[in-house]
Amino acid sequence: MKQVITGDHVVPAGATDEELLAFARRVGQTLYHPTSSCSIGHVVAPDLTVPGVEALRVADASVMPTVIRGNTNAPTIMIGEKAADLIKQAHATGEANE
Ligand SMILES: Cc1cc2nc3c(=O)[nH]c(=O)nc-3n(C[C@H](O)[C@H](O)[C@H](O)COP(=O)(O)OP(=O)(O)OC[C@H]3O[C@@H](n4cnc5c(N)ncnc54)[C@H](O)[C@@H]3O)c2cc1C
Repeated sequence: MKQVITGDHVVPAGATDEELLAFARRVGQTLYHPTSSCSIGHVVAPDLTVPGVEALRVADASVMPTVIRGNTNAPTIMIGEKAADLIKQAHATGEANE
């Protein structure tokens, strides 16, 4: 391999916190998994309602608190299933306004 290796490929400039953070900002990406633009705790409540807005729940990858480490499809389906349960529960208890 020595014959074909010409130097470092994609590495941080150094090992300080600033250099590591700059490297993460430069090369980090969500791949095909963008999430969290409407995250629980910031925009959406834990029951997926939107405080201040009536008759609205958000049930997709946007509610994930942070970009998760693994694939997003199955967790997104799980969020949808949970939303269905929450809506059914709200209707059963008469709390639904949706
Ligand atoms: C190329 C690619 C490959 C992927 N591969 C995998 C994989 O192998 N495994 C995995 O777990 N995940 C994978 N993912 C990620 C996964 O597909 C997504 O995380 C997941 O589909 C997100 O679901 P969602 O419901 O949040 O959004 P989406 O699936 O994007 O659904 C949003 C829906 O809203 C609709 N919409 C948008 N705007 C409006 C509007 N104004 N009015 C009405 N409807 C609207 C869109 O048409 C779309 O149907 C991949 C993603 C991509 C792009």
